[in-house]
Amino acid sequence: MVIFRCLLKGHCCKKYWIPVTHLDLLRLHIYAGIEIKPSIINLYESSLYEDLTYPRVIFKNESYFLALNSKDDSSCIFLSKEGKCNIHPYKPLVCRFYPFVYIEKESEIDIEINENALGECPGLIIDKKPIPDSIKRDLIRLAQVRILELKMWGRVAEEWNSSEYSKKEFDEVAEKFLGFIMSRAEEDRKKLVESGLWIP
Ligand code: SF4
Repeated sequence: MVIFRCLLKGHCCKKYWIPVTHLDLLRLHIYAGIEIKPSIINLYESSLYEDLTYPRVIFKNESYFLALNSKDDSSCIFLSKEGKCNIHPYKPLVCRFYPFVYIEKESEIDIEINENALGECPGLIIDKKPIPDSIKRDLIRLAQVRILELKMWGRVAEEWNSSEYSKKEFDEVAEKFLGFIMSRAEEDRKKLVESGLWIP
């Protein structure tokens, strides 16, 4: 059977950058008390990652993916010296799937092992049997919310991109940008709560 238990070793947190939505940031603010300021985030030039389909935000004619900031050694800013995630209960949804991925197949969602995690994630044990139903069930529900949140984030990004502010450099409008996406996050959170789809 495929067995997975996160051992909080942080291997994945040193290797990948973490794309976030406005709602990921709102969770950090509400539940972990983190002030959402420019030093929390990073922008990755989307032209360097053409295969990625995440929503993009524009600053001064360049489009970017919004992500968590990282330390000088490229590890996530929320990874502790001991290798643990300091925001584990409220971490961004993308972190919660690893070492699995969700695949959208027409109207269905399937859960598969993330090939990048093979031999890398110490909490993943594989003996060629299927992923347990309990893991699949939880991750399918998470994927349904994730897909919805990405659509909401896409609409927020579009709104930003069509505003006058998107013509400026990030540093000139950073506070404005964060204020804007956090206010939209509050509105979207209300919709998710009303439909029973809000995940802390
Ligand atoms: S938010 Fe937590 S789980 Fe996600 S990369 Fe950062 S330290 Fe790792």
